Amino acid sequence: MKKLLQDLSHLSGLRDRQAMEFDLVRLIVQSDIWRFQTVRLVRAVGPPDDQRWITLARLSQGQSQPEWDKVWFDTSTLPLLADFAHREEAIMTESTVRFGQAPYSTIFPIDTQASVCSLLEVESTEPVSAVTEALIDSVLRLFENLQGLLDYGERDTLTELLNRKTFDGAFLRAAQVQEAGDYPGHTDRRHTQLPASYWLAVIDIDHFKQVNDNFGHLIGDEVLLLLARQMRVNFRFHDQLYRFGGEEFVVLMRCPHHADAAAALERFRHQVEIHDFPQVGHITVSIGFAPLRDNDTPSGAFGRADKAVYHAKGLGRNQICSFAALVESGELQDQYDGTEEVDFF
Ligand code: GH3
Ligand code: MG
Ligand code: MG
Repeated sequence: MKKLLQDLSHLSGLRDRQAMEFDLVRLIVQSDIWRFQTVRLVRAVGPPDDQRWITLARLSQGQSQPEWDKVWFDTSTLPLLADFAHREEAIMTESTVRFGQAPYSTIFPIDTQASVCSLLEVESTEPVSAVTEALIDSVLRLFENLQGLLDYGERDTLTELLNRKTFDGAFLRAAQVQEAGDYPGHTDRRHTQLPASYWLAVIDIDHFKQVNDNFGHLIGDEVLLLLARQMRVNFRFHDQLYRFGGEEFVVLMRCPHHADAAAALERFRHQVEIHDFPQVGHITVSIGFAPLRDNDTPSGAFGRADKAVYHAKGLGRNQICSFAALVESGELQDQYDGTEEVDFF
């Protein structure tokens, strides 16, 4: 019990989401109170018609470092939600589900964020006792509360997207990863030389002032909330979604090519265009995006994507503009004197 308390105090001192997830599985695998073979922290992600399981942390006895699914772009390799009936049952019933024999599996639901469902799945050679189950439940409630505290500081209260305050830190981490060339899954020369694997997109609702003027601020707020929900469904788990204030949103996404970033944004633009918002009907968004570059700054990258949004507004709104393409075609000036090369195809 002393070790458990020490481990929990360590967990509660962490401020990074992934570090907390890794610490949680480590704490549970390495406990001296119970013995589990494997512990997995998983989450259901993706649009309603293609929901899949992503592993946030998985640790077995004898392993020191947790494994996790590094799927930045192609989520089709992740297992389908429907292939894990017991996990689905744990989500639906919001209670612990047990199945199998040697290994015995026990699944605990975790309620970390609105509309996001995580589970802790443990495997053991013996059935999990009622006392152990209650203890793990308490550990998970503490984990939920700690994550809730992180959310409180990092998230916008209306939409629950990340807030602007957390953007600079996330941006600088992304820029470091990009400069280090840490891009798993791509080994051929063309890909390793690719200058941009992170992209920053600015999304601005068109004529949003009219929504407020015609329907009132409360309905306007509801549109913002529903748009944020569409963003969560449309973009991928590892994409970072921000509300920058007002009716302006930012996506920091990781994908291989200019065309992939453009396609993901176009899919979102189209989804918004066809969505029927209660009372308001149809709205549109204008989007600008730019690749992160070496020694980039948050304000520099944002400024480039924002220039592209401005261009999209000028072209009649409801469209996507690429900063790199606009510079290439001479429609925008780039003050950058580096050697950026963007692979369009
Ligand atoms: P454009 O197509 O050029 O982007 O036009 P717009 O009307 O969307 O842009 P503008 O910047 O003129 O107006 C933005 C409006 O967004 C003004 C304000 O009423 C509204 N707004 C800003 N923050 C909030 C909010 O938190 N809730 C609501 N309901 N409205 C907001
Ligand atoms: Mg606007
Ligand atoms: Mg705006």
